[in-house]
Amino acid sequence: MEDLRLDSLPGVGPVTTKKLSDAGIHNIMDLIVRGPVELSEISGMDKDTSANIVEKARQALVEGGLLAKDFVSATEIYKRRQEIGKITTGTECLDLLLDGGLETQGLTEIYGEFGSGKTQFCHTMCVTVQKPKEEGGLEGTVLYIDTENTFRPERIVSIAKAHGMDPEKTLDRIIVARAYNSAHQTLILEEASQMIRENNVKLLVVDSAVGLFRSEYLGRGTLSVRQQRLNKFVHLLVRIAETYNCAALATNQVMASPDVFFGDPTRPIGGNVVAHTSTYRIYLKKSGKKRIARMVDSPHHPEQEVIFGLGEAGVIDPDSETKKKTTKATKSKAEPEVKAEPETDSVDADAKIEDIPEDSE
Ligand code: ATP
Ligand code: MG
Repeated sequence: MEDLRLDSLPGVGPVTTKKLSDAGIHNIMDLIVRGPVELSEISGMDKDTSANIVEKARQALVEGGLLAKDFVSATEIYKRRQEIGKITTGTECLDLLLDGGLETQGLTEIYGEFGSGKTQFCHTMCVTVQKPKEEGGLEGTVLYIDTENTFRPERIVSIAKAHGMDPEKTLDRIIVARAYNSAHQTLILEEASQMIRENNVKLLVVDSAVGLFRSEYLGRGTLSVRQQRLNKFVHLLVRIAETYNCAALATNQVMASPDVFFGDPTRPIGGNVVAHTSTYRIYLKKSGKKRIARMVDSPHHPEQEVIFGLGEAGVIDPDSETKKKTTKATKSKAEPEVKAEPETDSVDADAKIEDIPEDSE
């Protein structure tokens, strides 16, 4: 749709357009992504005017077929969901867990202790999303928001090589934004709409989504402010994923909750805000050299676990490095939960994350 220009909206003239673009809003889509409350905050317009503009933007997009109507039939929702793309993880086991791959139009949260493979998973997805559709990719590019300075182009190179792809081209299609504080992290996302559209971004990674918020807002007194800001960030992420039909992938660390005596004592740091906004949540756990991934409360995936590994190719099927039993390996899903290998469970159970010894590999 060509008519995404702000001045195509009735009542929006050059002055408002200038004001909006100074605030990082360059087209009608951006208006929807930011919403009326924020619009009035950043532009200084009164609440009614901004609500009005956003409503007009919404109508224009509905007319253009770019946005769902308020009342839609289940058939239409079903159709829109048919447009959901899936990105292969490059492994049989994790594709099985995700029922085909990482979905667009949704936020997938990966949480787990340090070294559990969250960053490796993100790096792998950066490569696989670029694959042709017949091979499980979306031929898309990546926006990677790196908050912990753990993005490693070298890893992309080796993952791309392992997948038989051109490493240089693969690197070229990943745009990395380093976020220095939580406000900056949010700003990057607020300004990203245009870039996402123009570059056919199909994967949006935030590694880690919560880390900066956590380190800036310490202590009980700041908890509600932190959750509020984090909430805003995560909602923005979800709206962008829905609007641009791309997959959002966010990582989250865990902390030990001392009040849990049975089962796994770890909880995701973002707490409920992240949990309730993300469409899918995957919990990663170390088990010696192997890793366990569990699908946690998904609206339509069965709760199940699979075992995977980490290697030169990023996330890999268990035993695929030794080229043994690659076909059998994917069938390991059926382990009942909490029964994960006792060797690491006993470590997890009474240690804080910081106390767990560095990975034994
Ligand atoms: P954090 O919470 O600290 O960010 P994380 O969950 O992101 O941790 P990753 O960085 O994804 O953890 O995983 C680190 C692990 O990945 C290492 O312990 C190592 O086992 C594995 N790993 C990293 N690079 C390679 C490689 N080239 N080949 C094999 N395994 C690797
Ligand atoms: Mg990491």
